[in-house]
Amino acid sequence: MRPEGADNPAPQRMSRRLRRALELISLFAVVFMAAAAALLFQGAFGQQVDRDLERMTRAIAVGYESAAIQDPESLADYLPGSPLRLTLIDTDGTVLFDSDHRDESDMDNHLTRPEIAQALESGQGHSVRESPTLGQETHYYALRLESGQVLRLAEDTNSLWSSYNQVLPLLVGGGLVAILASAVLAAVFTRRLVEPITRMADHLETIEDNVPYVELIPLAHTIQSDRSLRENNEAMRREFTANVSHELKTPLTSISGFAELLETGMAKPEDVPVFGKRIHSEAGRMIRLVSDILELSQLDGMQAGADQPPAFAPVELSTLLRDVASTMTMNAKKAYVTLRYEGDPVTVQGSRDMLTELVTNLCDNAIRYNRPGGQVVLRCGPAGDGGAYVQVEDNGIGIPQDAQDRVFERFFRVDKSRSKATGGTGLGLAIVKHIAVLHGARIELHSTVGTGTTIRVNFPGGGTEDKTV
Ligand code: ADP
Repeated sequence: MRPEGADNPAPQRMSRRLRRALELISLFAVVFMAAAAALLFQGAFGQQVDRDLERMTRAIAVGYESAAIQDPESLADYLPGSPLRLTLIDTDGTVLFDSDHRDESDMDNHLTRPEIAQALESGQGHSVRESPTLGQETHYYALRLESGQVLRLAEDTNSLWSSYNQVLPLLVGGGLVAILASAVLAAVFTRRLVEPITRMADHLETIEDNVPYVELIPLAHTIQSDRSLRENNEAMRREFTANVSHELKTPLTSISGFAELLETGMAKPEDVPVFGKRIHSEAGRMIRLVSDILELSQLDGMQAGADQPPAFAPVELSTLLRDVASTMTMNAKKAYVTLRYEGDPVTVQGSRDMLTELVTNLCDNAIRYNRPGGQVVLRCGPAGDGGAYVQVEDNGIGIPQDAQDRVFERFFRVDKSRSKATGGTGLGLAIVKHIAVLHGARIELHSTVGTGTTIRVNFPGGGTEDKTV
């Protein structure tokens, strides 16, 4: 669920993004391949032209040099009607013969031509120059003869761009076919890739068993655990509602019954005060229950982050114990239980009201689940690492081993009738647990049936020993 007002971008279609990426890759590949192929072919073609020119020039040179009389004009017989151009240049750069020119005398000195200069120096030379004809280039090969003169053969070839122009329609056509084919393949591939992901949502309860890709395992794990957590929460909520309704129904039924007896006049006059007292005590039980439920719901809200917890301030625990002990003295007396407190002054960061409630609940239990003549001791003091503890000890009836883990659950009671008879709601320890969690404290419970119970709440560091109080 997206939080309202958050300006997150709208979700995109994964299949479309994938398809686009694949199409772009294939387009890039086609264009890159076409350009690379053209460059490579042009290079290879040029080399081939150079090799052919060299072979032919050498053949003509052998023929020319082996003739009895070396007449430049005889060179015209070597390549009759050929588009190749043959030139003979003298050692001083004068053109002695050129197959493209009738009159060589008006041709400029060729010494500056790179291939001629190279040939004069090292025996052979070649070069490529742009041809006067548009879109063409001329390859030259020059060979120094034994006489020192240079024989040069030249051929015009299409330049890269003009050859490209010729094959362009074919290239574009081929490229389009390739792009179209890759678009179809991309669509098929994308569908195949995305389909298992969309199918995952069909069976959320077994999502972890049907993960199509390793990368999705953490997501599936989160979804499944979140789902079971929500199912658990839902089950707990239903159980809690059922318990609350049941707990409220019992006193309400009694109240309604007694009220009916009074209303119809069926109660004997001497029973009226008795019934009135019962109605009063059942109503009191309901009030305690409702206020405990409200308290738990507030603590739930704080723990879930929905409600703001009260501001924490330094709370001195030994004074708090003294106050609780004095409030509970009457209750202890009524139950023939002695109540005392002892402990070193120690301060923790917390809510005074909540901590008073925590100690009161523990002390109340220690009195109610005790025996006449029993005793309750409230203790507090500094603990390791700058922490602190609060402890409530009794030598009462104790909690059986198998129930010790469950006493902090809502409405769990070891002995339901004793709890109710002593005014219990079954929520006291659940409230204690919540308050401890909100203070980052840990609860330890030690209990033996028939010997007694000790519940210790350990507060984390940050609590400071306070010698002045
Ligand atoms: P209740 O309102 O029933 O006391 P609590 O949540 O405070 O509910 O406690 C849950 C149950 O744990 C009690 O019903 C009781 O059986 C057991 N219990 C709690 N504290 C003690 C204690 N000090 N000695 C023995 N049993 C206890």
